[in-house]
Amino acid sequence: MIAARLGIGVTAMSVGGLILLGDSFFVLTASEQLAVIAHEQAHIDRRHALRRVWWLVTMQWRNIYERCREQEFEADRIAAQNGHAKGLLSFLSRLSPESDGSPLHPTPQERIESLTKEFAHVR
Ligand SMILES: [Zn+2]
Repeated sequence: MIAARLGIGVTAMSVGGLILLGDSFFVLTASEQLAVIAHEQAHIDRRHALRRVWWLVTMQWRNIYERCREQEFEADRIAAQNGHAKGLLSFLSRLSPESDGSPLHPTPQERIESLTKEFAHVR
């Protein structure tokens, strides 16, 4: 389910089963928008946020950054497997290569490299 438009600097995020859209979502092409929604829906379907909470409350700190980053790659993979590889690569190419990177979140460049390994035929 898609909820209100956010006036903040993110494209989209999922919170409690809702997908929240930032202003920058609305400048994307239709195929990029579908890919972003598919990525966020994958986070919801795989209960990624709940898993993170579970890791915290059960103090499973080991490799927690790597597991969070793997959730991002997994959401990308699922979106690509569902036919959104091209739209996702197009969206990620819009972002500056090193933007959004953090210990919890791979950079657009890392996500592109991961996707093109598996979905090279799409480019
Ligand atoms: Zn994500």
